[in-house]
Amino acid sequence: MAARPHLTGYTRDELAAFFAELGEPRFRADQVFRGLHERRLTSFDDMTDLPKALREKLNESATTSTLTVESKYTSVDGTRRFLMRTSDGNPVEAVFIPTENRDTICFSSQSGCALNCDFCLTAKLGLLRNLTAGEIIEQIVLVLNDVYGAGGETPHGTNLVAMGEGEPFMNFKNLIKALDIMSDEKGLFIVPGRITVSTAGVVPKIHEFAALERRPNLAISLSAANDELRNKLMPINQRWPVDELLAAAKAFEKTLKRGERFTFEYVLLGEVNDSVEQAEELARLLKKHELRKVKINLIPHNPAEQLEYRPSSPEQVLRFKEVLEARGVSAYIRTPRGRDIYAACGQLAAKQEPNLVQIAGR
Ligand code: SF4
Repeated sequence: MAARPHLTGYTRDELAAFFAELGEPRFRADQVFRGLHERRLTSFDDMTDLPKALREKLNESATTSTLTVESKYTSVDGTRRFLMRTSDGNPVEAVFIPTENRDTICFSSQSGCALNCDFCLTAKLGLLRNLTAGEIIEQIVLVLNDVYGAGGETPHGTNLVAMGEGEPFMNFKNLIKALDIMSDEKGLFIVPGRITVSTAGVVPKIHEFAALERRPNLAISLSAANDELRNKLMPINQRWPVDELLAAAKAFEKTLKRGERFTFEYVLLGEVNDSVEQAEELARLLKKHELRKVKINLIPHNPAEQLEYRPSSPEQVLRFKEVLEARGVSAYIRTPRGRDIYAACGQLAAKQEPNLVQIAGR
């Protein structure tokens, strides 16, 4: 039997077409869109503004929900990691990161990842499959419902980062569709300015992304300023080497509006890519490509048993930052969040361990 369509991944127009086929008027489609996104309902039965007969018809012909939360872990710093499963059994992880005035949700675009970055635990899963637009959106709905109660008001704005499992630009179409649906003012209304998509350097997609009319912010994971080291740390570099990547970044920069910037992420690995000379090399690389509207996020590596790297010392992180700043490059140190529950950058590998602090799963 074919799977029932997952309406969470439908745009408003697609929903209207679906309802037309059922012989239902457009306003019913709009009610369901609001129910799924604005009210964050995960069952047709909860949409009590629909006639009972229509709810029954919808239950037979479609679904609102395909992910199950298998377990949840809470960090000492308040970060929560959600390990979910798709209906065909693949792991999906999302992380809720609270700060004083805003919430950030880090979501997955794929189950696992094909790119094999040497410092990343997700790479160990390999690529399981691309997530659908509906599965991408459902992660956000489930996390917000868990934190604020089903459909509860969100007191802070929600920022989204596509930095969970997967390389977002390897699932470009579904990602962009999901972000479009989430930005709908009649739904979750998370506008592109509140969203950051992080790529390991899929050059053709950076050009495609740059051409989008309403697009989120961009972050490019760099982590080395020369091909020799980057080939080892991030094998995608063998396909699109540093100069080609930076040329794409420059093309993207040219499309930015006044005051906008984009980000390079640089994971700092102790005695691998964190020396003063390497910071100077990075500054020279940015200068060579005349990149000015950029900032560098320095991310201290999050260690794990299966990875051969260790984090740079705090002193070395600071020195790296100072060298960049002395050469006119804005650099920021990102504080790791949720390290103790395998929720931090590069740590998402569907870890399920009894010694992690788990709160009641569903
Ligand atoms: S760092 Fe990102 S792109 Fe690289 S393996 Fe991990 S999830 Fe994939």
